[in-house]
Amino acid sequence: MDVARRGFLRGRFRSVTAESRPPWALAEAAFLDRCSRCDACVTACPTGVVRVGDGGYPTIDFSRGECTFCGDCVTACETGALRREADAPAWTMKARLGDACVARKGVECRICGENCEAGAIRFRPALGGISRPEMNEGICTGCGACVAPCPVGAIAVSNPMEGQQ
Ligand code: SF4
Ligand code: SF4
Ligand code: SF4
Repeated sequence: MDVARRGFLRGRFRSVTAESRPPWALAEAAFLDRCSRCDACVTACPTGVVRVGDGGYPTIDFSRGECTFCGDCVTACETGALRREADAPAWTMKARLGDACVARKGVECRICGENCEAGAIRFRPALGGISRPEMNEGICTGCGACVAPCPVGAIAVSNPMEGQQ
C-alpha cells in the first residue's frame, strides 16, 4: 500500500502525492523524458509551491503555498516539459477533505473555506450543531490554498482517481 493510500485511510492526508508535477506538465512519461531537472520552474515560482522532488524532478508541495496559475513556471521551462496550450487546464487535481477534519467531529472550524477564493468549500448549517464543510469539486481548481491553513492536515489535493485505488 502506498503512502498516499495509508494517509487516506488514517484520515490525515499528506499535502499532495509525491510526484505531482507543476501545472501544464506533459503526461508523466513525456515529462520525465523532457525535463532536464534544471530547477528553472522552482526558481521562477513566486509562491514557492514548486520544489525539487524525487530524482531532482520538480514537484508540487502545497504545504509551502498555493498555485496562482500565473504560468511563470511554464515560461521558465525551456525544454517544453511544461507546455501551456490555449484553454488547456493546468491539471485535473482537486481537493478532498479527510476524516481528520475537526468540523466533521463537531468542532467549529471554517479555516479552509475562508482560504478558498473559488468558493468551492461551503459550510452547510446544521440544526443545533456545527456547520460541516462540503467540497464542490466542480468549482475546485486544485490551487491548494486550503491545504496549509488546515490545522489538522485534513485536506489533500490529488487527481480524482488517486483516492479510489
Ligand atoms: S503557475 Fe505560477 S504559482 Fe503555479 S506553480 Fe507555476 S509559477 Fe508557481
Ligand atoms: S480547515 Fe481542516 S479541520 Fe477546519 S473545517 Fe476545513 S478541513 Fe476541517
Ligand atoms: S484547492 Fe483551491 S479551489 Fe480547491 S477547495 Fe482548496 S482553496 Fe478551494
